[in-house]
Amino acid sequence: MTEIKPTAEQNTAPLRIAFAKPLTPSNKTGDKTQELEELIKVFLSPDAFTIAEAGSGQTDLLVPYDQDGNVRKRFLYEALSRMTGEAPEWGIMTGVRPVKKAGELMRANGTAEAQRILRETFLLSENKARLLTDIYAYQQASLGDPALESVSVYIGIPFCPTRCLYCSFASNQVKGDEIDRYFAALLEEVAFLGALMKEKNMFCESLYIGGGTPTTLFAEQIARLLATARREIPGEAQEADGRYTYRELTLEGGRPDTLTPAKLAAAKAGGVSRISINPQTMKDETLVRIGRSHTVAQIREAFAMAREAGFDDINADLIAGLPGEDEHDFARSLEELLTLAPEGITVHTLAVKRASRLKEEDKDYHYRSGRTTQKMLEAADRILRQSDYKPYYLYRQKHMSGAGENTGWCRPGKEGLYNVRIMDEHQSILAAGAGAMSKAYFPEEDRLERAPDLTNYELYIERLEEMKERKRTLFAAIGPFGGR
Ligand code: SF4
Repeated sequence: MTEIKPTAEQNTAPLRIAFAKPLTPSNKTGDKTQELEELIKVFLSPDAFTIAEAGSGQTDLLVPYDQDGNVRKRFLYEALSRMTGEAPEWGIMTGVRPVKKAGELMRANGTAEAQRILRETFLLSENKARLLTDIYAYQQASLGDPALESVSVYIGIPFCPTRCLYCSFASNQVKGDEIDRYFAALLEEVAFLGALMKEKNMFCESLYIGGGTPTTLFAEQIARLLATARREIPGEAQEADGRYTYRELTLEGGRPDTLTPAKLAAAKAGGVSRISINPQTMKDETLVRIGRSHTVAQIREAFAMAREAGFDDINADLIAGLPGEDEHDFARSLEELLTLAPEGITVHTLAVKRASRLKEEDKDYHYRSGRTTQKMLEAADRILRQSDYKPYYLYRQKHMSGAGENTGWCRPGKEGLYNVRIMDEHQSILAAGAGAMSKAYFPEEDRLERAPDLTNYELYIERLEEMKERKRTLFAAIGPFGGR
């Protein structure tokens, strides 16, 4: 999305937008002002508009009140579209989980009607409407719904060798003894989660070790973490030696420079079924620009090591919209990545988050880069379909270049189960580690409740007992299930 081209009048002042209020205030309708502002930001940078008081006479655009929030959003979308000449493909949808919405519509109305609603009520382009319904249908056919007593488990390692330009996650660059302290606390929390799950007769369907960069740990630590998890966290089945097994066990090895044959061997022996090696780009110059401490050659080496270690399910992330890249750079990266034949490729759209260095350096980068990023996403769609990858999950974030999306593509049968479950929000998540978010799912009301672990890893270590208590409280009303 390019920035609005100001008219002569708007040259000196931001556009003044006001939202008319209901004549009779009612707390049932909700005023949706925040959602309306999010929609404006799809078209305009925050400096290019202000929200004025309705009725103050100081407005350039007044959005009439309607009880149906979608009517107001459509009015706004159409007005801004006329002013800017832009027609964002996601229409008035600004939420993180459009596939979930499509699923609800499909279950209630069938696929054709769901597509019509997505196009006419939410103003999605035909392509995006079809993409959503295709992904939901694919998820249902390949993975189905989760069992009531199943959960996803997340274990977080908030350390990375360096900090990426766009990073807004819990990522610390610290020495080994700090990691050791954290590691000890983490193992304790993992054992706690296991005990809680056993009390409730829950089992882990998919276990995800993410970060940060989990492969910052030493090989012995990776082995110990996996041994602890598989001893403590109940799965649906057990091996002869008593270790639990899960439908999926993922280890993020995001930074190729953190991978060694010894770490990969420890991961394989520990039962990891899926790893990710994340290039983000296959252009060395950009890797330097975005603060990654590895080269393209190291990405290739990491893939070779992982194959050598026996991994047959590798996911690789690429980012569309990186600074200094055009659509040809992106397409070249993708083509080069395909020569490494990953089983999954997640195409992210660069998001300029508040806590990132990029935001400090260039707060409006995502507005200026929008058109180029859209061409990159179109190229990804074309190239990956031609290469027999299927889109299997999708989510969106705020402040994305070109108001795009993140899409996970995979070879059939290599869907990332954890990714699908967390976006679908019909399963509890038990999470351990600094910054990790546990979620309890209440099926009768179809809603989630959340309990975060502290993001600061030092405070997390200090207040570990409190982290456990938060989870005990969160899951107090759930289970025990019937047992297996
Ligand atoms: S690898 Fe991920 S978590 Fe680590 S600094 Fe980069 S974006 Fe942040």
